[in-house]
Amino acid sequence: MKICRTKQDIRDTVQRFQAAGESVALVPTMGYLHEGHMTLVRSAKANAVRVIVSIFVNPTQFGEAADLAAYPRDEARDFKMLETEGVDAVFCPAVEEMYHPLKQTTVLTEDLDKVLMGALRPGHFKGVCTVVTKLFNITGADKAFFGEKDYQQLQVIKTMVRDLDMPIEIIGVPTVRDVDGLAMSSRNVRLTPEDRQAALILNKALAFADYEVSDGRTGPDLEQEIRDFIAREPRAKLESVDVRDAETLAEVPSTITRPVVILLAARFGDVLLIDQRVANPA
Ligand code: AMP
Repeated sequence: MKICRTKQDIRDTVQRFQAAGESVALVPTMGYLHEGHMTLVRSAKANAVRVIVSIFVNPTQFGEAADLAAYPRDEARDFKMLETEGVDAVFCPAVEEMYHPLKQTTVLTEDLDKVLMGALRPGHFKGVCTVVTKLFNITGADKAFFGEKDYQQLQVIKTMVRDLDMPIEIIGVPTVRDVDGLAMSSRNVRLTPEDRQAALILNKALAFADYEVSDGRTGPDLEQEIRDFIAREPRAKLESVDVRDAETLAEVPSTITRPVVILLAARFGDVLLIDQRVANPA
C-alpha cells in the first residue's frame, strides 16, 4: 500500500492506474477508522479495480476548536487496517499541504447549507464541499463512496457534483452499526460507558419512528413523539429531530406519502452523535 503525503504523489499514483485502464474509487475519511469505514472500502473494491483512501481531519469543517483538537487520531492503526483490506494507496496530507496560505475560494450548496446540520453548525458544509472538491480534483478518482450515516452530507455532495458537472460518480453506503445498534463513529471512543449505553436511545427512537411512519403517522406530530421518546433517557441532550423528504430534505406535508428520512443529533456528555434512518409510509 502506497502512502502519499503530497498532492503530486497521489495524483501520479492515480494517473498510473488510469493509464493502465484501471478504474479508481476514492473513500474520503477523517481517520480513526472503524467497521463503517471498512464497509465503504469493501463497497469501493467491489465497484472499482483500485481503491484509494484519504485520511484528513479537515479543520475548515469544525465549528469548535475544542472538537477539532479532541478528534481521535491513530495513523499507524489506520494504515494497518487499510493494508489488511487491500487498499492500493492512502492520501494523508498535512493541513499545510492541503491549503494554500492565501486560499480564498470555497464551494457552497446554497440551500442545503442553511438547513438541518448546516443551521446548527454554520460553515460546516462549506468546509465539507470545499475539501471534497479538492480531493476530487487532486485525485481525479472515477468514483467516490460516502456513508448514509452522514445523510445530509451525502445529499450535499450529490447536489454539488450534479450542479458543477464534476466527472465523478457518488455512491452512498448504508449505516454500519455495532451489534447493540449504535451507529459506528470515530467519536464513540470518547463516550463514557454510561453515555455509550444511553446513546442506544437514538437507534431505538429511529426504530420507533420507522414503525410510526409505516403506521401512517403525520410529520409534525411525529417529530414531537420522537422528542418525547428520547426524553426518557436523561443523559441524552437532544440537539435536533427532523423528519424530511428522503430525497430533497424538504419539510414533509402533514400526511406522509413519500419516503422520509429521520435525522437525529444529540449530545452525550460533550460528544455530539448523529444518526438517521429512511422510513417508508405504508
Ligand atoms: P468520517 O471519517 O467520520 O468523516 O467518515 C468518513 C466516511 O465514512 C463518511 O462518508 C461517513 O459517512 C462514513 N461513515 C462513518 N461512519 C459510518 C457508519 N457507521 N456506517 C457507514 N458509513 C460511515
